[in-house]
Amino acid sequence: MHVTVTAGHGGTDPGNTWNGHHEAKLMMQLRHILAAKLRSEGHIVREDGGRGENWALSDAMRLIAGSTVALELHTNASTNQSATGVEVVSLPEHRELSQRVAHAIGSVLNIPTRRDKGWFPHAQCAAERGFEPGFSKRGGLIVEVFFQSNPEDLRKYLERYWLVASAIARAIQ
Ligand SMILES: [Zn+2]
Repeated sequence: MHVTVTAGHGGTDPGNTWNGHHEAKLMMQLRHILAAKLRSEGHIVREDGGRGENWALSDAMRLIAGSTVALELHTNASTNQSATGVEVVSLPEHRELSQRVAHAIGSVLNIPTRRDKGWFPHAQCAAERGFEPGFSKRGGLIVEVFFQSNPEDLRKYLERYWLVASAIARAIQ
């Protein structure tokens, strides 16, 4: 399988900085572990940069074409710090895969799957945000792994991110 794994944001954009962490850095670390796991299982993996490197989104999106599965990793954030859970933005043809990924992450972190069993339809996301997310528009999955703004979500993630990587790897195979 050809898998693309990218870390959200990058370039000069750190993503959200809730609770003393940088989204882009957290997701670069997760990308690195997930990519290593997938390669060890024989898959061909493309990343948006080498270790410690995180391309800007416009460059990362060019990796989607030709991939069997393409994932962009993010942490979610809300001014409502009790917001919790995992959701995956994608086109309707990726609904089941998105739900599988969300369920796998939710099980490991013991957080709820949001929206439609973890699937956040691309069109609904575009309507809510007021713009079309480029990565999902091009056929990728935008994985909002957990709420960084929620201290409990973040604590669980920091304890279990290796397990999160394993769960995602299993879910996409
Ligand atoms: Zn993000």
